[in-house]
Amino acid sequence: MALDGATTQLPDSLAGITLRPDDAGFADARAAAVWNGDITRHPALIMQPTSSAQVADAVAFVRAQGADLTVRGGGHSFAGNAVADGAVMIDLSRLNEVRVDPEARRAYVGGGAAWAAVDAANAEHGLAVVGGTISHTGVAGLTLSGGMGWLTNAQGLSSDNLLAATVVTADGRTVTASEGENTELFWALRGAGTNFGIVTEFVFQLHEVNPMANLGLFFWRPEDAREPLRFARDYVFELPAGTGVLMAGLSAPPAPFVPAEYHGLTGIAVMIVSWDSAEEHAAAVQPLRDRGPLFELVTPIPYVALQQMLDESAPWGARGYEKALNLMELSDGAIDVVLEWLPLKTSPLSFMPVFPLSGAFHEVDDKATAFGGSRATRWVINVAAIARDADTVARDRTWVRDFIDALRPYASDEGTYLNFLADADEDRVRSSYGEAKYRRLAALKTEWDPDNVFHHNPNIRPDGAGLPAPRQAPEEAAPLHTT
Ligand SMILES: Cc1cc2nc3c(=O)[nH]c(=O)nc-3n(C[C@H](O)[C@H](O)[C@H](O)COP(=O)(O)OP(=O)(O)OC[C@H]3O[C@@H](n4cnc5c(N)ncnc54)[C@H](O)[C@@H]3O)c2cc1C
Repeated sequence: MALDGATTQLPDSLAGITLRPDDAGFADARAAAVWNGDITRHPALIMQPTSSAQVADAVAFVRAQGADLTVRGGGHSFAGNAVADGAVMIDLSRLNEVRVDPEARRAYVGGGAAWAAVDAANAEHGLAVVGGTISHTGVAGLTLSGGMGWLTNAQGLSSDNLLAATVVTADGRTVTASEGENTELFWALRGAGTNFGIVTEFVFQLHEVNPMANLGLFFWRPEDAREPLRFARDYVFELPAGTGVLMAGLSAPPAPFVPAEYHGLTGIAVMIVSWDSAEEHAAAVQPLRDRGPLFELVTPIPYVALQQMLDESAPWGARGYEKALNLMELSDGAIDVVLEWLPLKTSPLSFMPVFPLSGAFHEVDDKATAFGGSRATRWVINVAAIARDADTVARDRTWVRDFIDALRPYASDEGTYLNFLADADEDRVRSSYGEAKYRRLAALKTEWDPDNVFHHNPNIRPDGAGLPAPRQAPEEAAPLHTT
């Protein structure tokens, strides 16, 4: 139900943390809430709690009003799931404290923190935990559906490094989920976690990571990239354990290491990050150098700077749309599709990040967490339209859809990484989890959120409402359709 934000009576406990549409600060808070400038929804109220108790009060209030609520972590969902017309936005941006216990190697992270704060706090101690590749992204949404970045091959997903979470549930309780407490909920949080409550604090396992990394970035024009990509598809899986790899189709930025005549040129970049010595890194990237890139950057880089290196490629307020799919291998046919479609984008900001997943990602048992999809070594290809203006993003939205359709014949049957879908409908959600995980999640949803209070997300329906009867035993069920 929509709520009249101007007139609704608020309890004292919430009055001080609530912005009404006429309040000074409401317009700014609304504008700052979501990264995607294409989202122009109007919440009825914005509540900015600073404690779990206030979050619990906010949930109780919204439910008592019979109103709709959204949860805003870092505001980076492409779908704009943090905000809905007429709903109460529980905006966690003030619940963003990060505390590090270097002896125990634990980070305690507020539900509204962004990765930049986590990286900076950890780096002081020579520690890190895998986060996303853009530091203004929120910890919450990224972790609760998986989370992949430079350290994924070394440490797995962000969710694989979650040790515990404090959760405010739909019925207003505050509970802990960990391997020792509420273990089924803990399983569900690591992959489908936006469905079960509001996480007010994450506890992460930290790892020793050299604060100084080595980066190698090599860029080819599409017409020159076929052979380098055919080489790189095997090479990236043969690099020393823990090496970070990201490929990207993108427009060359106006950065000092890019010769001026290539600024804005669309091409393919292969980026390799290691924490070995500069000599070992140079030896590892030599085969890419040998393939005649148009330009390159090989340099030591602080880990914190690496995490911020791509920040400007997806600036706040830009308009965005994305789709993604999984490829079990980067076949010649898939490479040809990429090289044909990449140059057809309109916006210089539109890009195609490609995550080759192996190493620690692959070592986790498929069933150990709720993460959607198996842990088989694979490629996650994301195609993102990003532009400043509505017309350009509309053109590139069509480009994204056509590009993904052209790649679909090469995709696996396992759905998609849900954090990379601007429109995750029920079929896509189900196929990404697979039948067995989806049914387990639906049962948990019935237990923890039977009224589907938390539904602005890749939604798990309570009881599997609306699901057809299983045709075979869940454990044997084949994955559903590719998205
Ligand atoms: C520029 C950009 C770069 C990205 N790079 C990467 C990347 O490198 N790797 C990667 O894995 N992903 C990446 N992503 C995808 C990202 O993981 C998702 O967009 C994720 O949802 C962002 O989380 P958020 O908290 O910022 O978003 P929000 O929009 O605030 O929230 C996303 C979802 O999580 C829910 N939610 C938020 N906070 C909480 C909470 N505390 N408790 C419970 N539910 C909550 C919301 O209700 C919503 O459904 C990127 C996205 C963008 C826009």
